[in-house]
Order: sequence, then structure tokens, then C-alpha cells
Amino acid sequence: MNDTSRTGEANQALAPLLRLWAEVDDLGKASSILAWDQETQMPSKGGAARGKLQATLAGLRHEKLVSSEMEDALRAAEEGAVDGTPEHAQVREARRAFDRAARIPGELARALAEAATLSHESWVAARKAADFSLFERDLAHMIGLKREEAGLLARGDITPYDALLDQWEPGMTEAKLVPLFAELRDVLAPIVHGVRECGRTIDESPARGDFPAAAQYAFGRSMAEAIGFDFDAGRLDLAPHPFCSGFAPSDVRLTWRFDAGDFRPALFGILHEAGHGLYEQGLPGAWQRTPIGGAVSLGVHESQSRLWENLVGRSRAFWEWALPRFHAHFPGASGVTLDALLPALHTIQPSLIRVEADQGTYDLHIAIRFELERAIFAGELEARDLPDAWDARYGAFLGVRAPSVADGVLQDIHWSMGGFGYFPTYTLGNLINAQLFTAARAALGDLDAMFARGEFAPLLGWLRENVHAHGARYTATELVERATGRPLSAADFLADRAATAASVYGVTT
Ligand code: ZN
Repeated sequence: MNDTSRTGEANQALAPLLRLWAEVDDLGKASSILAWDQETQMPSKGGAARGKLQATLAGLRHEKLVSSEMEDALRAAEEGAVDGTPEHAQVREARRAFDRAARIPGELARALAEAATLSHESWVAARKAADFSLFERDLAHMIGLKREEAGLLARGDITPYDALLDQWEPGMTEAKLVPLFAELRDVLAPIVHGVRECGRTIDESPARGDFPAAAQYAFGRSMAEAIGFDFDAGRLDLAPHPFCSGFAPSDVRLTWRFDAGDFRPALFGILHEAGHGLYEQGLPGAWQRTPIGGAVSLGVHESQSRLWENLVGRSRAFWEWALPRFHAHFPGASGVTLDALLPALHTIQPSLIRVEADQGTYDLHIAIRFELERAIFAGELEARDLPDAWDARYGAFLGVRAPSVADGVLQDIHWSMGGFGYFPTYTLGNLINAQLFTAARAALGDLDAMFARGEFAPLLGWLRENVHAHGARYTATELVERATGRPLSAADFLADRAATAASVYGVTT
């Protein structure tokens, strides 16, 4: 039998599975569009009605996913799948999703979707009022549902928290993350300490001033466009939280927010989300609405956003090109020079807010959430304990304390939407992006010279070929190894952090 006829047979065996899968995928995307709408358009009173709608969609999706037709189609496809082919990967991913969903009763899937919508609304209100009690009941309810879900998914040496991690980062476990976070803390904490002791403070005034919202939008949008984001296949809207939602490579939505007195949150937020968006726009068109048509994992997703935000967007070479454009959009900042601005893009300073944290302290914010989540799912912490537990960890890890719960335990959206086990993917993204960037540099040569000319297409092309185009054909572990020639490690990321501490603060550890 030749390869073509074998592929033909495999495709035939796969056809019923893919037909059913396309509908499951569509229902999931419909929920995502409604979630995007909730964040960007929905009036504040719309939450309860939206919760019912989301519960119905989640219930329908769940029914279709675990149906006996799906089970039969999956079994038939498994028989024909040849190891190492895309068809085999289709079956692997479909099996993973099916087995996971089959352990969850439809009732629970609907309850989780409705709770996510409702507790999101009470979290918004609580954060606005800086009053945890407005959120505590809904959060306790959400934690209860997630414990139930995690309990149903745990088995053998897969802990309940592992089961939650697996949703975002397939195959990731507490046992793998505990030593990783210990390694990061061992290296990053002395850097942060050294910076604090060195007594050098960075003049951040070049990044501060009067930056009108309209000019920030125009500048951010032009930067997203310059790195390759296609606005005919995407949007950029104002929202309380920056995020990216992709419904197809031809429809990718980014959001942004701004600080009128500091251009950094908006610009780096937009570059970050545009990095996610480039991944979504680069996913394989031929595999859309199939089990391997989406991103392989959130860690890989986050590697794309961080690569553009930090390794490109904060580089000297990027600013050699971008500074005249910055001056044109912000005439009030026309006196800002490259040498004055660059250190303000590389501060290392313990702070309260994760999304605005620098790269030296960011992973300590994640380590805090990882510890808290593990404790929640080990039954050691309840919703009511979280404000105090939060403050205690921030004191221990970063030496800071939030003046209000709005900047403390209420700062993140994730728990309100049931996104437990999600945070560690940010740290994995940091590790992956550093390692990918090293490999891209080795393959492409002088990236800095390209950035200084505003040429980002070669880097994007490399990422398209080595990451985006594969969808979920390979596991995240395989993908990183194929793209970089070695297994994932923290080495490149930590070396980069140490180099920045040395160059900006003169601190060596
Ligand atoms: Zn991100």
C-alpha cells in the first residue's frame, strides 16, 4: 500500500469524527464570542441573562462531545490512524477532549458556565467597590464546582489540581511545576534583592507624562500592524482587561486598556495581545474546526505574546525604529531620547499588579498564585481565607502589601471565571519564548538589524513555520523540542534576566 492510499483510508475513517467535531468546535466558539461581547459591549445588567445563554451553549456542546455517535466515530478513527501522521494527532486530541468531558456530568458543565458568568459580574462589582465580601459567596460557589470537577477528573497519580492544569497545559503536573518554581525563585529572588540593595533607581519620567487615549490607540494599533497583525482579520477594542480571542484565523479580537499618564501599559499590552493574535491568525487554515486546529497549549500561546511584548518590543533595536514614530504620535514627548527611555522599559521592582509587573518579578507573582491554588485544591484554603493568604504571600515573596483588595486578591479575572490552574502557563510562556527566540536568532542571523529597520516579517515567518502552522499536531513538549532542538528549560530565560539586571542596575548575582 502506498502512502497516498493509506492517507486516503485514514481520511475516510476520520471523516465522521471531523463532521461531528466541527459542530462541537462551533458551539465552543459561539461561547467565546459571547464572552468577548460580555467584556466589550454587554451592558452591566446583562449578566444574569447571559449566564443562562452560556449555560445552554455549554450544555449543548457537552452533549455533542460525549454523544454515542462521537464515541463510535472516535473508535473507528482510532483504528485507522497511523502513528506520526496528522490524522493520528486528530484522534489523540479528540480522545483527550472526549475522555475529559465524559467524566463531567452535563449538569455540572452547565452549572460551571453559568457560575462563570455570574461570578464574573460580582467580581467586577467587588473590585470596583474594593470590597471582597461582594465576591466571596460566588467565589466559594465556583471553588466548590471546580473541586467537584477536579475530583471527577483526578485518577491514579493525577491530582485534582493536575486535572485543572491539564485543561490549559496538557500533561502539566504539580510535580513538574514545584521544582521549576523553586528554581525560578532561587534565581529571581536574589536578583530582586540585589536590585533593591544596590540603591540605584531608574528614572521612569521618559515613560510618563500626558498620553491622550486616542493617540495611544493609534500608536498601539500601528505597532500591532507593523509586527504583522492583520486588521482585516482582527479588531482592537477597549475593555477592562487586555485579552485576545480567536474564533478563526480570519477573526481575531484583541482588547486594550490605558493609563493616560504612562504609555507603557497600553503599548506593551497591545504588543502582548497582538502576539497572541499573530498565533491565532497563523493557525493552519486547513485544520480549522478540527481537534488540532487550535493552539497547542496556553504556555505556547503565552510564549508568542511575551516574545513580541518583551524580547522584541522592549529591545533597543526595536526602539531605534519605533522612537521617531513614538515622537510623531506624542509630540509632548518629542524630547525623549533612546538612552533615557530604555532603562524605563527594563525596571526590576517588586510591585502589586501582576499584569504590569516587570520581567524580573513577574514569575514571583505567578508562584504566589500557584501556591494559593494548590492549597485551595488540597482543601487547605477557602474563599474567605484568600484575602489574608494573598497578603501573607505577597509579603513573603515580594515584600509588598496591597493597600486595598482591589489591587490585592481581586486584581485577576481568572478565578471569577473558574480559570484555576491557568496562571502557571504564563511562566511556561516566559521559558518557551526565551528558548524560541534563541533558536530564531540562530536561524535568522542579525535580528537586531532587522528590528532597527522595522523588519519583523522574517521573525514572524520563522514563528509561523515552527510554531503557528502546526496547530496542535504536536504536543507542546514536542513542538518546543522540534523548534529549538532541545527540551524546554529555564536556562535561556534566567540568563536573560541576569543580563538585564547587570546591564540596567549593575547587579550581578
Ligand atoms: Zn497573554
